[in-house]
Amino acid sequence: MIRIHSHGNSSVMQFETHALAEPQKGEVLLQQTAIGVNYIDTYHRSGLYPLAMPSGLGVEACGVVEALGEGVTEFKLGDRVAYAGGAVGAYASYRLMPADKLVLVPAKISDEIAAGTLLRGMTAQYLLKRTFRVHVGQVILFHAAAGGVGQIACQWARELGAIVIGTVGSDEKAAIASQYCDHVINYKTSNFVERVREITAGKGVAVVYDGVGADTFEGSLDCLAPRGMMVSFGNASGPVPAFEPAILAQKGSLFFTRPTLGHYTLTRAELVATAADYFHAVSRGFVKPVIGQSYALKDAAKAHQDLALRNTQGSTLLRV
Ligand code: NDP
Repeated sequence: MIRIHSHGNSSVMQFETHALAEPQKGEVLLQQTAIGVNYIDTYHRSGLYPLAMPSGLGVEACGVVEALGEGVTEFKLGDRVAYAGGAVGAYASYRLMPADKLVLVPAKISDEIAAGTLLRGMTAQYLLKRTFRVHVGQVILFHAAAGGVGQIACQWARELGAIVIGTVGSDEKAAIASQYCDHVINYKTSNFVERVREITAGKGVAVVYDGVGADTFEGSLDCLAPRGMMVSFGNASGPVPAFEPAILAQKGSLFFTRPTLGHYTLTRAELVATAADYFHAVSRGFVKPVIGQSYALKDAAKAHQDLALRNTQGSTLLRV
C-alpha cells in the first residue's frame, strides 16, 4: 500500500507492506483490482485537506469481495464492487471497507472504468442533475473540459441537450474536448470571459462549473447571465479567495454554491441511485469515460506529479 507520514509533495508517498486484518462487523475485505487517482488525493497528500498521520491515500477503487464481516447481507463472496469517496486508503492491493459504502458493478462496466471514473461520474451526475438542473438549450460553461470530471460531465451535459462551452489548457486538450463540446476555449492563450461573451452574444451562460478554483473564479462570475449559478466544485489551481457577498449582487444577482459529493450521497439510497445513474449513462453509451493514463500502484507518486503538471487527460488509474 501507499502511505504518507507527513504532508508534502509526491516524495512523501511510500510503498509499504502491512499485514491484513479480518473484516469486523459491517465490513468487507476487498481484493482490489484497480484504483482511481483523483485530484482530491493531491489535496490530501499536500495538506490542503489535512489528514492524521500516518495515513493512506486514495478514495476510489474496484475489487472482488474476499471476506465478509458479521452482519453483511447485501454482498456475497466473489461480488465485483466499487466505492468512491469517504475515508482515505484506496491505494492498496487489499482493503477493508464498510459494506454500506460499496456498490455492485454491472457486468457491462469494466473494473478499470468502475475504479477510475465512478467518483467523477457520480460528481458529474449531481452537478448536472441536482446542484443545478441542466435543461435543453441552456448554454453552460465547464472548466477543464478535457480532465476527468470534465470529459464525463461535458458529454453528459450534451446528452441533456445543453450547449456546452469547455475550457482547456492546451491545443492537444482542445482537440479532445472539441469531440464533445460545442465550443472549446484554450484559456491559456485566449481570454475566456471575452470568448464566452462573444459566443453568447453578450448574454452570458446559465451556469459555470468551476473545478479550477483560484485562477478562474473571478472570470467565471463575469461569464454568468443575470441570476446565473456559479458552481465552485474544486481547487486544481488553488483555493478560491474569500469574497464579499455583495459582489454577487453587482455581477447580476448571482447564486454561488460550493458542493461536495459526500453531501449528495448522504444516504445509502442516494449513493446507490447516483452510481446507478452513472453506470446507466456509460452502459447506454452516451457517456464514454476515458482512462487517459495508468500507472503501477508503486508508481502512484508519478501519477500525482503528472496531475499537478496538467499532463493528464481523462481519468487516471493505478494498476494493482
Ligand atoms: P482533472 O483530471 O480535471 O485535472 C485537473 C485539471 O485542472 C488539469 O488537468 C488542468 O486542465 C486543470 N487545471 C487548471 N489549472 C491548474 C493548475 N494550476 N494545476 C493543475 N491543474 C490545473 O481532475 P479531476 O477530474 O480529478 O478533478 C477535477 C476537479 O474536480 C478538481 O478540482 C477536483 O478537486 C474536483 N472534484 C470535486 C468533487 C466534488 O464533489 N466537489 C468531486 C470530484 C472532483 P487544463 O490543463 O485543461 O487546464
